[in-house]
Amino acid sequence: MRHYFSLLIIALTLISCGSRLNTQRELLVGIKASDAPSPKHGEVQITYLGTNGYLIRSRDTSIVIDPFFSRISLIKVALNAPYSPSTPLIAEYSQRANFPTHIDGWLVTHSHFDHLIDVPPLQQQFSGKIITSPTGKFLCQAAAPKIASAKIIGARPGNHYQIGKANIHVLSSKHDRVLGSTPIPGLISKAISSAPIRPRDWKVGTPLAFLIEIAGKKIYIDSGGMPGHLPPSRNVDLAILGVAVGDGQQRFDEAVQALNPRYTLPSHQDDFFTPLHRGFRFSSISNFSKLKKDYLGKQLPGELILMDYFQSWILN
Ligand SMILES: [Zn+2]
Repeated sequence: MRHYFSLLIIALTLISCGSRLNTQRELLVGIKASDAPSPKHGEVQITYLGTNGYLIRSRDTSIVIDPFFSRISLIKVALNAPYSPSTPLIAEYSQRANFPTHIDGWLVTHSHFDHLIDVPPLQQQFSGKIITSPTGKFLCQAAAPKIASAKIIGARPGNHYQIGKANIHVLSSKHDRVLGSTPIPGLISKAISSAPIRPRDWKVGTPLAFLIEIAGKKIYIDSGGMPGHLPPSRNVDLAILGVAVGDGQQRFDEAVQALNPRYTLPSHQDDFFTPLHRGFRFSSISNFSKLKKDYLGKQLPGELILMDYFQSWILN
């Protein structure tokens, strides 16, 4: 019960304190997705979908990470209320993000609802392979038994896949702690007969990070992490690092130094318990101003950037 009260307090804080992206206008990149031309040869286009969701496109390959359009209030999460993907919201926002007619792959950093719930219905519409943890695979199969088993890969750190013309390296990751422990913990190690119907059915599984090699560029993405658990040392073009809560924020500097990126995009720092149509608001626990101050003060490598909802940016 104490846990629910804590969540309710966080919910009320989030509702009252969210500031908007126009306070950070100088860091924003991208143009409205619906106005953005398709990427040309050698270009990689990044479109932000909110939460930790991205569409990454080259001329010949399209990959989506952690799409989440069917939002739910934190109060309903705290009450573990019945919850399913929203067909109208998925249709509206996949169109607003300018999804191509075919997606080659869906990468899932972990299987909480805000990363996985919309993947099965989207896969059924846009095709493509799902790369998720074994727990995520069992959840997808239970949520959408019609998806062919071969289309859902239960991946482990160290695995490599070719998706379209992109190479995907699966890396080890950690989930941030919230109030001292991993939220909605647990692994699923065998097929489940009942579909996930409540927020807490979407157990975290094994968290993953991805290194995506696409059109000559290297993009690293995770959804957060823990201090001391760092990405491998690579010189990436773009690092998308989850900074939703304290653990991810604390290891942000070290992660940037390890990845030595040309561009760094802090991610998962919006209030994703409010509907997408209300626009981007920093969650009150995102702490972006401190993160930016540290980034600039410590002269971390690369350029710090931000993206607004449904904006597309070319990574040259
Ligand atoms: Zn999570």
